[in-house]
Amino acid sequence: MYRSHNCGELRASHINTEVTLSGWVQKSRDKGFIVWVDLRDRYGITQLVFDEERTSKSMMEQAQQLGREFVVQVKGIVIERASKNPNMPTGDIELLVSELTVLNEAITPPFTIEDDTDGGEELRMKYRYLDIRRNPVKDNLIFRAKVTQEVRNYLSKNDFIEVETPYLIKSTPEGARDFVVPSRMNEGQFYALPQSPQTFKQLLMVGGMDKYFQIVKCFRDEDLRADRQPEFTQIDCEMAFIEQEDILNVFEGLTRHLLKEVNGVEIDKFPRIQYDDAMRLYGNDKPDIRFGMEFGELNAVAQHKEFNVFNSAELVVGIAVPGGNKYTRKEIDKLIDWVKRPQVGAQGMVYSRCNDDGSFKSSVDKFYDQDDLAKWAEVTGAKAGDLVCVLSGDASKVRAQLSALRMELAERLGLRDPKVFAPLWVMDFPLLELDEETGHYHAMHHPFTSPKPGQLELLDSNPGAVKANAYDLVLNGNEIGGGSIRIHDKATQAIMFKHLGFTEEEAKAQFGFLMDAFEYGAPPHGGLAFGLDRLVAILGGQETIRDFIAFPKNNSGRDVMIDAPAPIDDEQLTELSLKLNLKS
Ligand code: ASP
Repeated sequence: MYRSHNCGELRASHINTEVTLSGWVQKSRDKGFIVWVDLRDRYGITQLVFDEERTSKSMMEQAQQLGREFVVQVKGIVIERASKNPNMPTGDIELLVSELTVLNEAITPPFTIEDDTDGGEELRMKYRYLDIRRNPVKDNLIFRAKVTQEVRNYLSKNDFIEVETPYLIKSTPEGARDFVVPSRMNEGQFYALPQSPQTFKQLLMVGGMDKYFQIVKCFRDEDLRADRQPEFTQIDCEMAFIEQEDILNVFEGLTRHLLKEVNGVEIDKFPRIQYDDAMRLYGNDKPDIRFGMEFGELNAVAQHKEFNVFNSAELVVGIAVPGGNKYTRKEIDKLIDWVKRPQVGAQGMVYSRCNDDGSFKSSVDKFYDQDDLAKWAEVTGAKAGDLVCVLSGDASKVRAQLSALRMELAERLGLRDPKVFAPLWVMDFPLLELDEETGHYHAMHHPFTSPKPGQLELLDSNPGAVKANAYDLVLNGNEIGGGSIRIHDKATQAIMFKHLGFTEEEAKAQFGFLMDAFEYGAPPHGGLAFGLDRLVAILGGQETIRDFIAFPKNNSGRDVMIDAPAPIDDEQLTELSLKLNLKS
C-alpha cells in the first residue's frame, strides 16, 4: 500500500494516528538538527518532520539529501505542529517520519513547481507534465472535468444518448481547411478528420436516435489566430422532432445548470437579440453585454453640415465612454492612434466632450454647434462627464472598428468582470455570407442550415437578405455555442447546394450519403455545438483556452513537448504511396 491518506487530508483529528503518504518533495528546510519537508500530491501538501532527537541518524542523512521533486513514501505518526500555519488546510499537523523510502529520484526541474513559476510559456509547454504539477494548471484540469461531468449529468437526465462518431471521415464543410490522413489500403486516397460530427449527428437523427450528444474532438486546419487550437473539443448535440424554441430551452437549461453547479450563479431567462440588432448596437455578432456603451447611429444628426468625412461615409456611429471627459488631450490622442493601428484600421476618430455644465467641446467644433453635439450625446446616451467617440466609413468596417474600441475601453474601465456572467442568444443569422474576394456566397453556418420559412424564394433575387434558423449562444463577448435547425428534405438541400456553387455531381460526390438518407424518412431536426475549451475557460473566469487543455499546441500548431508534427521516413511514405514535393 503506497498510501493510507493523501497529502491534503490530515487534520488535528488525526493526531497520534499512524499513516503512510506518498508524493513529491515540494521543498525542504534543513536546520541541521531538524529537517522539514513539504510533501505534495494532487490533493495538497503535508509537512514532514525529521529531528535529531526522534529520528535515526541514517534517516536524518537520507532526509537531508532529498531533492526537489523526488518521489517518496513515508510512514509516521501525525503530531501537532508547534507553530501552526492557518493558511494551509493541513497546517495544524505534521508527520513525524519513522520510515522513508525514495521511490524515485528527480533531476532539478527546468522551472520552479510553484503557483508563480519562473518558467516561460514555451518552457512550460515543453515540460507540460511538470507544469501540470503546479496548482493553477492542475486546478484548471480538475475544473474542466467537473464541467464535463455536469454536462453529462444534465444531458443524460434529459434523455440524451452519448454516441461516438468516426474520426477518419471525409470532408465536412464547417468553413475551415481539413486535416487529411492518407489511406495505406486505398492508394492515393485520403480521409479527412472531422471539422465537426455535423453530418453524422444528422444521420443519427435519421437513424432515430432522437437526442444525441458527444464530447468530441474536432479538427480545423486554420491559421491560428490568438487562442485557437487546431484540435479542440465540442459538446456536440442534435435533437429530432423539435423546433428552434425547444433547442434554445434545452441548451439554455444546460448553460444555466453549469453556471449554477460550477459557479454557484443563478441566471434568469437569457435575453435574445436579432443578429441585425447585434451588429447595429454592438458592431459584433457576439456582443459583450456585461456593460452598455451601445452604438448610436449618427447619420441623421451628423451629415447635414460641411464636414465631408461624415457626409461621404456610409455610416457615422458613436459610443459614449462613461467618465471619458476626464481623459486628457494626450490620452485621447493615444486613443486615436489606437483606432488607427492596422489591427483596427480606422481612418481617424472624432470626439465630443460632455462637460459637467452641460456644454460640449468637440474635435470638430468648426462644423458642429452645441445643439448638434447635444444630439450626438442624446443618440449615444452620453451624460455629463462622458466622452462621445465617433467613427465613420463603410458600415461593416466601421462597426467592427467601433466594436474593437468599445471592448478596449471597457477593458480599461474594468467593465469586463470575469465573475459576472452575461449570456445571450443571437438569433436569425443570415443564411449566406458574401466572400468579398471571390464574389461568391457561402454558407454562414454550414450548408445544412435551413432558411427561415418562406424565404427560399429570396435566394434567387436577394441571397444576402435570406435569414436562417440559426442561433449562437454568447457569453461575455465570446461565442460559446452555435447551431441551427437543419434542412431535412432532399429538394431544399439540393437548392442550397446549387446556391453554394456545387454542381449536382459535386454535391452528390461529397454529400450523396446525406441526400440519400433524406429519402428514407428524415425527421425534422436541429442542434448545436458548444466549444468546450472556451466555455470552460470563461466559467473558470479566464480567457486563454490553452490553460484548460492538458496538452495544447502552440501558435504554429506544434506540440513542443512531443515535437509534432514531424517528418516521416521514406519507408512510411512509400507504404502510403506518397512523394513529397517540398517548397524549400
Ligand atoms: N457543426 C456545427 C459547428 O461545428 C454546430 C451545429 O450546427 O450543430 O459549428
